[in-house]
Amino acid sequence: MTDLLELAGVSRVYASRRGLIGRAVAVRAVDDVSLRLAAGRTLGIVGESGCGKSTTGRLALGLERPDQGIVRFEGEPMPAPGSPVWRRLRARMQLVYQDPLGAMDRRLTIATQIEEPLVIHDIGNAAERRDRVAALLRDVGLRPDHAARHPHELSGGQRQRAVLARALATDPALLVCDEPVSALDVSIQAQVVNMLTDLQQARGIAMLFISHDLKVVRQVSHEVAVMYLGRTVEQGDPEAIFADPVHPYSRALVSAIPVPGARRRERIVLTGDPPNPADRPKGCAFHPRCPVAVAACRVETPALQTLPDGREVACHLAPGTIRKAA
Ligand code: SF4
Ligand code: MG
Repeated sequence: MTDLLELAGVSRVYASRRGLIGRAVAVRAVDDVSLRLAAGRTLGIVGESGCGKSTTGRLALGLERPDQGIVRFEGEPMPAPGSPVWRRLRARMQLVYQDPLGAMDRRLTIATQIEEPLVIHDIGNAAERRDRVAALLRDVGLRPDHAARHPHELSGGQRQRAVLARALATDPALLVCDEPVSALDVSIQAQVVNMLTDLQQARGIAMLFISHDLKVVRQVSHEVAVMYLGRTVEQGDPEAIFADPVHPYSRALVSAIPVPGARRRERIVLTGDPPNPADRPKGCAFHPRCPVAVAACRVETPALQTLPDGREVACHLAPGTIRKAA
């Protein structure tokens, strides 16, 4: 089966200014990332802020062009952002992000905003669009009377449902969800996540689910990529990664979440600075915070290696990798 979405060796470099002299430095927000996503599947991307998750999502939608590597959608290279082909494609790929209030226009009713992508992509006549909006409201668990309200007249959870209705309006094949429930109360998060995965399964939508919340990612993902400073450090089956993380960074992340049924693991608290893409350490970028770093880690960048169970890990000390402590 052809992948719906493929990122092959993708890098994105920004020029940023830093320091008192304001010298421009190249910041590798995403560095040689490869991912594949088939229809109806969910790939979770986890990591701290600044690890390149959101940039990966924007690359996946063609909102940004990679400086290296290639993004393919339905087997074809992603067209240039803003081009007529890309605009047409945009109906098939939608973005849902954290802040539903910021994503909506306060002056327009919910119905108008859900209808907007249908108007933009010239889908249906006025009556058909009205019916479609009513069906979408139902699908996301909003009431007919929510249609005439404005964003500030809804709760946070209802607003995120409305944003999802709008994202689903054009029947997308791909949803990129960037921290979709992070702004919501924990009690509401589960409801919105369940609704999202139900709709995704019913419609066979592929989802890139970006979050710093491992519990949610574990719940929704068929595959997980753990990112650190723009690179994938561990990728594979979520059950394997959450039960037995191999990369020291994944181990630290996973140690912070309670695992139902599992023996209580000792919490690994990371010291040192969180990732700063403008200041990437040499060698393994994680080495200043890694509790088990060896000399080689400071000079050599570990490549992603496939372990016998199929997952990929970038660490000199991963079992089965050739290079051990130098
Ligand atoms: Fe730690 Fe070295 Fe592995 Fe990097 S390569 S995660 S520094 S042990
Ligand atoms: Mg982000």
